[in-house]
Amino acid sequence: MTEPLYCVNHPKTETYLRCNRCGKPICVRCAVRTPVGYRCRDCVNAQQRIFYADFRTVHYLIAAVIALPLATVAGWLIPSLGWYAIVLGPLAGAGIAEAARWAIRQRRGPYTWLVVCGCIIVGTLPWLLLLFGSIVISMGTGTGYIAGRLMGLVWNIVYLVTATSAAYVRLRPGRRV
Ligand SMILES: [Zn+2]
Ligand SMILES: [Zn+2]
Repeated sequence: MTEPLYCVNHPKTETYLRCNRCGKPICVRCAVRTPVGYRCRDCVNAQQRIFYADFRTVHYLIAAVIALPLATVAGWLIPSLGWYAIVLGPLAGAGIAEAARWAIRQRRGPYTWLVVCGCIIVGTLPWLLLLFGSIVISMGTGTGYIAGRLMGLVWNIVYLVTATSAAYVRLRPGRRV
């Protein structure tokens, strides 16, 4: 067993943990779990400041250019699969969010979530309008499979809600790196 270290912020707390960026000993309370390991709060904050400082408006545009086509395909495909939308909606939302994040090289803007969620909504809108139009026509003429189309509308809404919330969770401001 190695000698216990003492947390830099809590000199009385023994710990075996070190920040994997600066090497400072940190206790469980001070450690922040990131995908690349435990880090101290200072390092996490510094990293986040770099992401924000490096962020330009053009990155919103890049995120949108990647997210919108994906959202348009997903917005057509997933609601058409019926109840699968419950499972695939969140997956699609997370996938679109990750793709947008990859496109802007993990940079973070305070409104990236808004851009991506907006793309998901905009990508679904044409399909939603088409469906809505066909429902109105069916009701007007009294023909067509109205119940099925109404269910389609339900799956569209399920997809929209689950996908946008999954994307928001991935990209929300303040989420640790
Ligand atoms: Zn550190
Ligand atoms: Zn501590």
